[in-house]
Amino acid sequence: MYNSEYLNKILEDVKRSNPNQPEFINAVVEFLDSMEEVVEKDPRIEANAILERFVVPERVISFRVCWVDDNGKIRVNTGYRVQFNSAIGPYKGGLRFDKSVNLSILKFLAFEQIVKNSLTGLPIGGGKGGSDFDPIGKSDGEVMRFCQSFMAELYRHIGPNLDVPAGDIGVGGREVGYLFGFYKKLKNDFSGVITGKGVEYGGSYARPEATGYGVMYFASEMLKVLRNDSLKGKKIIISGSGKVASFALEKANTLGATVVAMSDRNGWYYDPKGIDVEFALKNAKAKGETYKAYIEKYPNVAHGENNHDIWNVPCDIAFPCATQKEINVNDAMNLKKNGCFMVCEGANMPTDVEAIHYLHKEGVLFAPGKAANGGGVAVSCLEMSQDAMHLSWTFEEVDEKLQKIMKDIFHKCYDAATLYNEPTNIAKGANIAGFKKVYEAMLAEGLV
Ligand code: NDP
Repeated sequence: MYNSEYLNKILEDVKRSNPNQPEFINAVVEFLDSMEEVVEKDPRIEANAILERFVVPERVISFRVCWVDDNGKIRVNTGYRVQFNSAIGPYKGGLRFDKSVNLSILKFLAFEQIVKNSLTGLPIGGGKGGSDFDPIGKSDGEVMRFCQSFMAELYRHIGPNLDVPAGDIGVGGREVGYLFGFYKKLKNDFSGVITGKGVEYGGSYARPEATGYGVMYFASEMLKVLRNDSLKGKKIIISGSGKVASFALEKANTLGATVVAMSDRNGWYYDPKGIDVEFALKNAKAKGETYKAYIEKYPNVAHGENNHDIWNVPCDIAFPCATQKEINVNDAMNLKKNGCFMVCEGANMPTDVEAIHYLHKEGVLFAPGKAANGGGVAVSCLEMSQDAMHLSWTFEEVDEKLQKIMKDIFHKCYDAATLYNEPTNIAKGANIAGFKKVYEAMLAEGLV
């Protein structure tokens, strides 16, 4: 319950109109928790029904995806695109292919993306999409046929100035290539309609690295400002072994931190002396195989199959970089008990709302994904710029821009948190600073 009647009504309406969508409701609650003083200070928000509009997607597209597997059997999946908010730019957000995908998860991700994209300072709105297709164990041919069938419908709803998808869980360079190729064939048009492309055909240098590197740049700035500290010499945990986790691992190592534990969907492993970074990186590309490969090579390291147990590992900083709902309140308690002083999210909403409240109460620094993992979408937007200008920046140029963007994101969050008298509450600062730009644009554009 909030003190504000207005916020209570918004939350009630969201719960009533989105039954059985717990992930989406969680994301709205996490956002509304920061809004009490904002709606009180600016009466234009309620007078113009800004929040009523902000929590309802502008458009949700759902479609059938039929494809043929290697045995000639017809398979059917569901595809989605949630176009949530276009007040400050074309919809932008990744595509997720995973068997867990449903509308609740995609709406939560698209909702998070609105604030995240606004914080980058770049002109991009919020969207997300994907399918319950499970790429694990599928051949290249099966993945290509699925991607082509998916794009055969999606192409009607996207465009370089309308909606620009990218990758996410289960969608990497291979999938982006197949999706882009089929869009080009259908539209007879070579344009920057999807990001995360290979550099040979319009992709940006440093896009694969951007989210993981960006998380470490954000954490470094936060440590510098709030603790006069750095990552050097810190013991850290990174969950996951995918695109975000592996480049976070690489950058953490370069910045002098020791990564003591990692995981994938099959399990976690821990070595207090520091894991073998080179080996972990080499195996990070094999989906579902990283954990198995590591414990086969190092059978004596502590390990297990329950992913929550990774949060029992003693560390200074935890970087959840796998998926949503990784850290519950018990995990947060274990982290705190074992000396962790900061949680920095690489994934989207890996920490549940109760755990976030606990971390704040206990003085554990918390960096929300919507701020800390914004480097991926920021470089995606730089890819859109390069495509539009028909030129290509070097790796160093993009990395330099990324470092500046991540610093700026931190300072926007910190300044807003300070203005609202809670300088260390970066999650609140992120929500306020990201929302402000979007609602000013909504006010300027009128009722559309
Ligand atoms: P990937 O598919 O490359 O990697 C995901 C990793 O998480 C894999 O190691 C996977 O294990 C593991 N994983 C997936 N589901 C589970 C689960 N239920 N339990 C435990 N582990 C799991 O995805 P990304 O690295 O791209 O994305 C990771 C997170 O970061 C997501 O929340 C995504 O939304 C977010 N994100 C990604 C961005 C990007 O640029 N890619 C940008 C911003 C946010 P396995 O190896 O066994 O498959």
